[in-house]
Amino acid sequence: MLLAALPLSAWGDKGHRLVCTLALEGLPPGPRAWYAGREAEVEEHASDPDHWRQDRKEGPRHYFDMEPYGGPGHLPRTLGEARARIGGDYYRKGVVPWIIQDRWRDLVEAFRSGDGARVALATSILSHYVADAHVPLHTTENHDGQLTDQRGIHSRWETGLVERFIRPGDLEAMPAEADPAFPDHTWDWLRASHALVPRLLEDDRKADRTTPRGKGGKRRTQAYWAIFWAKQGPVVKQQLQLAGRHLGDAILNAWIEAGKPSQVEFMKP
Ligand SMILES: [Zn+2]
Repeated sequence: MLLAALPLSAWGDKGHRLVCTLALEGLPPGPRAWYAGREAEVEEHASDPDHWRQDRKEGPRHYFDMEPYGGPGHLPRTLGEARARIGGDYYRKGVVPWIIQDRWRDLVEAFRSGDGARVALATSILSHYVADAHVPLHTTENHDGQLTDQRGIHSRWETGLVERFIRPGDLEAMPAEADPAFPDHTWDWLRASHALVPRLLEDDRKADRTTPRGKGGKRRTQAYWAIFWAKQGPVVKQQLQLAGRHLGDAILNAWIEAGKPSQVEFMKP
C-alpha cells in the first residue's frame, strides 16, 4: 500500500542517462576535465536513488506536491517553513527542492576533495533529483492521475514516451551558465514543471477518448501512443533538455563554489 502511494520511477533509466550526457556535453573545459573517461560512470549511477526506495524516507525525496501549500505561488522556501505551514505530514508531501540543495553541496565537497570518482558519483546522484524535478507529475498530488481517473499516466508520460520515441540525437546540449544564486532556482524549475500538468492530463484524456483500448481494456494501442506523442513529445523533449541544461548549471556552479579546482593540481605528487 505504501509503495502504491509513491510515484513510480521517473524518466526510466534511458531518460536519466540522457540528462547526464546533455549536462556533461554543455560544460566548459574546466569542470568538463573532471569527467574525462568517467562519462559512462556518471550515467551508470544516475538511477541509483530509485533503487533506494525500500528506505521509507527515500520516496518523498523524488517529488514535491504543490497543492498542500496552496499552489505554485505559495511554496515554502525552507523545511522549517514547510513544517510550520502544513504540519508533521510535510515530509510525505515531498522534499525534492531541499534534497537537490543537499546533493549539490555534496558535489561542491567532492570537487574540493580532489577525488574524481567522488565527483562522478556525487554528479550521478544530484542528476537524479534534478531530472525528477523536471517531470511535471512530480509536482502534484495527482501524480499518477489517480484523482482524475487516469491511473498509469505517470509511467505513460515519463517512461512510455521516452522509451518508445526519444532518440539521443533528438536532444541538444545547451551550454552551462555560471550563476551565484544557483541553488535557489530549483523552485523555478518546479513551478515551470507544474505549469505543464493540466495540458499533459488533457492530452492523455484526448488520446484515450479517440482511440480504442487493447487487451483487457487496459493496454494502450499504437494509435494512443501516436496521438499522445504528437501532443506531448515536444514537452518531453523540452523537459529532458532543460534538465540537462540545469544539471550542467548545477555542476558548473558547484565547481566555481569549490574554487574552480583543476584536476591536474590534485594529480601532482
Ligand atoms: Zn526518482
